[in-house]
Amino acid sequence: MANEMKPRILGVEDERAIAEPLAESLVREGFDPRVAATVADAETAFEAREPDLVLLDVMLPDGDGRALCRELRRRSDVPIVMLTARGEEVDRVVGLELGADDYVVKPFSARELAARIRAILRRGRGGASKREVVEVGPIRLDASSRTVTKDGRPVEMAAREFDLLQLLMSRAGEVVRREEIMDLVWDEHWFGSTKTLDVHVSWLRKKLEDDPAAPVFITTSRGVGFRFAAPEDLAAG
Ligand code: CA
Repeated sequence: MANEMKPRILGVEDERAIAEPLAESLVREGFDPRVAATVADAETAFEAREPDLVLLDVMLPDGDGRALCRELRRRSDVPIVMLTARGEEVDRVVGLELGADDYVVKPFSARELAARIRAILRRGRGGASKREVVEVGPIRLDASSRTVTKDGRPVEMAAREFDLLQLLMSRAGEVVRREEIMDLVWDEHWFGSTKTLDVHVSWLRKKLEDDPAAPVFITTSRGVGFRFAAPEDLAAG
């Protein structure tokens, strides 16, 4: 297989005892890995060539893998798998809240990790680059022109409404947590009330739903977050 056909994996791990066998096993499993040992090195590698998936250690010599996770997630939909040490219970939760797709606990078997990577890449979530057009049922969102249509008719959107809708539609079928929405659509350091999120959701419903009081597209997962309907939900209805 030509190298450009192989999924590109960026591993960020400073411990050579883990990084070296990791790279070797990824090659064996049919991936095209590049291993960075620091946050700075990882950022350079990411800029040079956006990978299809990132494996990210938590404790790095020049920074925190969780902060890097957050930053990568703001820039890209690239799947991120946190590499955590045994017993880092908090880090697992935080990793997932930061927008990581999965985590593995060290030490991990090469085969298990490869299976996990394949499952995530199959699941897709947009792959290495953000999808330009997302279409779910009658709603179509075009990221390049920042336009939304319903049944082909344009729907006017304020900037923040568009960003919120884009996030929810890009993860259609998945509950997106309130904290994650606040981080990604509002501000990384939002400490105020999240009531503004509910207000924006209600505005989106008024624009998109046939009956905003009985929403079909954007549903609430109480105490957790919001979910945009999956295509199959709408087909069943
Ligand atoms: Ca480390």
